[in-house]
Amino acid sequence: MQSRWSTADAPSDQLELRVYASRLQGAEPSLVQWGGGNTSVKLTEIDYRGDALDVLRVKGSGSDLKTIERQDFSGVRLADIERLRDVAAMTDDEMVEYLTRSLMSPQDSRPSIETLLHGFMPQHWVDHTHADAVVAVTNQPDGEAAVRRVFGARVAVVPWVRPGFNLSKAVIAAWEQDRGVDGVVLVNHGLITAGDEARESYERTIALVTAAEQFIADARGGARRFAGLELPDSERGRVAAVGLAIRGSMPWPVVVEHEGSPEMLEFVARDGLPDVTGRGPATPDHALRTKGWPAVVDASIDADADALHGAVRSAVSGFVERYEQYVARYTTAKTPQLDPFPRVVLVPGLGAFAVGRNAGTARMAHDIYRQTIEVIADAEAVGEYRPVAEPALFDIEYWPLELYKLGLAPPPRPLEGRIALVTGAASGIGRAVARRLAVEGAVVAVADIDAPGAAVVAEEIEGSAGPRVAVAMAMDVADEGAVVSGVEEVVARYGGLDIVVSNAGTAVVSSVESLELADWERSLAVNATGHFLVAREAVRALRRQERGGAMVFVSSKNAFAPGAEFGAYSAAKAAETQLAKVLAIECGGHGIRVNIVNPDAVFSGSKLWSPEVQASRAEAHGVAEDELEDFYAKRNLLGARILPEDVADSVAFLVSDQASKITGTTLTVDGGVASAFPR
Ligand code: ZN
Repeated sequence: MQSRWSTADAPSDQLELRVYASRLQGAEPSLVQWGGGNTSVKLTEIDYRGDALDVLRVKGSGSDLKTIERQDFSGVRLADIERLRDVAAMTDDEMVEYLTRSLMSPQDSRPSIETLLHGFMPQHWVDHTHADAVVAVTNQPDGEAAVRRVFGARVAVVPWVRPGFNLSKAVIAAWEQDRGVDGVVLVNHGLITAGDEARESYERTIALVTAAEQFIADARGGARRFAGLELPDSERGRVAAVGLAIRGSMPWPVVVEHEGSPEMLEFVARDGLPDVTGRGPATPDHALRTKGWPAVVDASIDADADALHGAVRSAVSGFVERYEQYVARYTTAKTPQLDPFPRVVLVPGLGAFAVGRNAGTARMAHDIYRQTIEVIADAEAVGEYRPVAEPALFDIEYWPLELYKLGLAPPPRPLEGRIALVTGAASGIGRAVARRLAVEGAVVAVADIDAPGAAVVAEEIEGSAGPRVAVAMAMDVADEGAVVSGVEEVVARYGGLDIVVSNAGTAVVSSVESLELADWERSLAVNATGHFLVAREAVRALRRQERGGAMVFVSSKNAFAPGAEFGAYSAAKAAETQLAKVLAIECGGHGIRVNIVNPDAVFSGSKLWSPEVQASRAEAHGVAEDELEDFYAKRNLLGARILPEDVADSVAFLVSDQASKITGTTLTVDGGVASAFPR
């Protein structure tokens, strides 16, 4: 492992330097993952009374070394920590209570569970990581012996102890036996280094991790070699089939993130995959994000979609059964069972599928399992992968101080875990709908014939809602191949589909008398056939997934109250409306709801209201073009301009659980119009 230290970049302010050196470690995925590891510095500060005193600045629970900031380091009075050196025993609750009272500011977040081990070490700088290489060489049948083989006398060793008071005492006791060591190795857990300078401690971490990496490379007889397996694009249909089967076997909507990299394909092709992965996570606290082991699908490498579907569902139910037995072995009345569903599903030939209640937690499970496969491969190269035994795993997974971290997550939003496809989403109503569904917690495929426009909207959504919550797709809804492949792409990317907003449309303005056949056909192709193609592919996916679904067709007042020169548009919109109603009839038995919104005169950001359409409408109503929007606003009962966001509100309602008993209905969003004529 290379040192990332740069003297030029290292700040002189001590707390800033702590942030800097922490982020160097956070930037290394094989050192820490998603909130794992913690760092500290001991400083002299002025307290609220104006007195100078020694303070431990230590990572607060819930922050991440990769993105940590100054204020994420909680301040704990060192004198309070020193008093605990002579205390023989303390419960977790007592320790947390004590540390909370020792904080410099009541606003500081709860300090790390491992605060005391930082405080007990006499050096100013302490770094604690969960380095993969160190975990791999200690996840062996005899972890302590393995440490000696790798590091000789360079380190002190502490066997597996659950983090907290007892581990802190064990660490300082081990270090005091030989103060000359470079660090303390925690078996099945990680590494601690310390130093009087920030860089000294950091470089010790890098040096010890490098030694472990070298040991693994030597055991392997050189650098790791891959067979170079590739997952061809033609496998997307099977990837999609696995996602649908996973989602279909979950009691709530989830986002599924697939990885079919050469490394992952090679890993899932191992002999004895269920055995080696079933032994447990690389380090017990991963169980919080990945559960203790993955579901492994027993299907032949070339199984078709139907066979995969059955095999995935049986792997998930097998997982649930094993999980419930595991909990039953250790649980007491005080510990209610967490949900028994897998977070990682491995499929030979296709790779890994990470599962989360939203895009963020799916990504966490994915990232952590990505590191887990490295640890397993490295541990097996050195000897035999043997992580902590099951009782210790349960002890961590159901430890209130670990569960506290789950409690830090914000409460789920109404559409959390839902997967939405919005067509015509690069502008106007489609864009407003896509943004709105993301705000409600859904992940969104932003489809449009205007690919660059869709990319802008997807980027915008990710900017405010987080990475991976939106994907841009080029889709001409009138092109059967594009729609088939687009829906498959959404399913393969996120694992399935829950919400379809069929919105793409185009306006053709001409009297029937002078309408060109090509314009008529183009309107039919986009405004009628386009909705059919999207609906057909979506229903096929929803049926396979077996979790119901919600579809909304964005129609037009024209379907009910047509206007002159809108023959091609109104006829096609009428077809769309009938299609939606028939779909509602056909799909009700499968829990798929189909509704229609009818917006009228939505101008803002709309491509439908091209300059030609505006000119034609202005002429028809006998008003100037720049008065057209006002004209429409004044015409409705509320005298209101109808905005894309108003339509998005109605769509968001129709796809939500609040509308769970509504199907086949039409919701008109037009400010209220007393008479349908004149238009
Ligand atoms: Zn730790």
